[in-house]
Amino acid sequence: MAQLYYRYGAMNSGKSIEVLKVAHNYEEQNKPVLIFTSAVDNRDGVGYVSSRIGLKRPARLVHADTNIFREVSLHGGPVSCVLVDEVQFLTKEQVLQLTRIVDELDIPVMGFGLKNDFRNELFEGSHYMLLYADKIEEMKTICWFCERKATMNLRVGDDGKPVYSGEQIQIGGNERYYPVCRRCYFHPPL
Ligand SMILES: [Zn+2]
Repeated sequence: MAQLYYRYGAMNSGKSIEVLKVAHNYEEQNKPVLIFTSAVDNRDGVGYVSSRIGLKRPARLVHADTNIFREVSLHGGPVSCVLVDEVQFLTKEQVLQLTRIVDELDIPVMGFGLKNDFRNELFEGSHYMLLYADKIEEMKTICWFCERKATMNLRVGDDGKPVYSGEQIQIGGNERYYPVCRRCYFHPPL
């Protein structure tokens, strides 16, 4: 029975490397996978899942109007698993498409991404993955400033000060994001 998996974590919790690892494990057993990533995130070249430790591989891009269910349905050949990186940027409609891949095509789907944005609100994709996924798992990483578990993402502007409001998605800015615990989110030692 295929299932919809949601694996979320703060920045730098190894989500992209996990996508590459899962894909490798499937392919080692001659089980083909389809890898998608959001067109929103172009930090390291559009059309790749890339990890900070240097590994990367091509991925199909999900634009706002992409029908993921249709792309998987029309794919010629077997698909053992569908992997989606940056799943927070999916729309509600696209998360529902993932549920149809699981329920109607009987293909497992694993979505990886952030849960909360820098304002500590849910992304649209995260919201609906939390509501619709069969299995939800947290990917853990440590706070940038202390030893606690990081559960939030702190945005720091050009002036080195934390930012708590503004547009959810910033493209091409110079701001930085840090994985932080709740305490350091509100009181970063900056
Ligand atoms: Zn902390």
